[in-house]
Amino acid sequence: MKKMKALVKLKSGSGLWLEEKNIPEPGINDILIRVKKSAICGTDLHIYNWDEWAQKTIKTPITIGHEYVGHIAALGSGVKNFTIGDRVTGEGHIACGHCRNCWRGKKHICENTVGIGVHLDGCFAQYIRVPASNVLKISEHIDDDIVSIMDPFGNAAHTALSFPLLAEDVLITGAGLIGSMAVGICKFAGARNIVVTDLNEYRLAIARKMGATLAINPLKTSLHDAMQELNIHKGFDIGLEMSGSPAAFNDMISEMYNGGKIALLGILPRATGISWDKIIFKGLTLKGIYGREMFETWYKMEQMLLCGLDISPVITHRYHFTEFEKAFAVMKEGNCGKVILDFEN
Ligand code: NAD
Ligand code: ZN
Repeated sequence: MKKMKALVKLKSGSGLWLEEKNIPEPGINDILIRVKKSAICGTDLHIYNWDEWAQKTIKTPITIGHEYVGHIAALGSGVKNFTIGDRVTGEGHIACGHCRNCWRGKKHICENTVGIGVHLDGCFAQYIRVPASNVLKISEHIDDDIVSIMDPFGNAAHTALSFPLLAEDVLITGAGLIGSMAVGICKFAGARNIVVTDLNEYRLAIARKMGATLAINPLKTSLHDAMQELNIHKGFDIGLEMSGSPAAFNDMISEMYNGGKIALLGILPRATGISWDKIIFKGLTLKGIYGREMFETWYKMEQMLLCGLDISPVITHRYHFTEFEKAFAVMKEGNCGKVILDFEN
């Protein structure tokens, strides 16, 4: 059995372990991918830190990671339309294909979703095995680094494109990796003003590079003042909640215009108190977002990139996978955009 290196959550507690594992064998309908680059997601940091969510969700041992680019190394006997050597990435949610939502074309809210790098071995390894139905060939005109972050870019695209944006005033709470990419998408899709909030100056700077009209720290500048500066007198038309912060969400609700629409990506704590009266009397629409639409979001992402949308400002750090401790330390500290691990050499 041939061996590979992998970053494994071996046991409970903080950390990851660099291990030698067998290279997986592809099943009939699987593809074996030689991983070139992987990006670290907030989910990976939760698993690294072994927080409450990770303790509840992760069964050890497991190789984590779900954002990657690589080349096809082997194909199961039943796989069609792919060739060894193709440059690919993958959708991280495996849908069952037979529940009511899968059957009605809503695979992203499949009732039996399984997560790569969460429930099944992931891509922080030299090879990953993925069902062919989750593998995507991406245009060669798009760089490897960008392809490695298509998964979170898809979260941003799914959220941002939930409602028509043309000429609308948009508020994005949270200029994290996903919030910053959403800024670029809103601009690309024709929003009038894009106001972004975050408590972290490093991230606000990335949001500005991505084209935010105004990127503010709400502890220093009130949303109300920002709106005055931009002549937004009635409120925001569209809200994209991408921080998971109850305070940010309540500020958003307060500053929405009547009839406004909010897409919720950030995972708000259960106990979040909400000004329900404002939602009701303003006639706001709330939409929960999970993952990416399979596969319309992927189509839109690829086409936006090919038409000139540049999301490269969100990538700020690169490490060899053996330096994973350094990479996770940077993620923990938070003064970073996307951190990419190189698995090639
Ligand atoms: P991130 O941690 O990089 O970004 C969150 C940002 O919110 C940070 O920059 C943080 O400084 C900022 N923030 C915290 N408190 C704030 C406040 N009061 N006001 C404004 N900003 C504040 O995370 P990310 O990877 O960009 O993901 C964004 C959110 O989406 C997270 O909550 C994540 O758990 C969630 N998420 C959801 C899905 C889904 O499918 N629904 C998928 C991926 C991520
Ligand atoms: Zn299903």
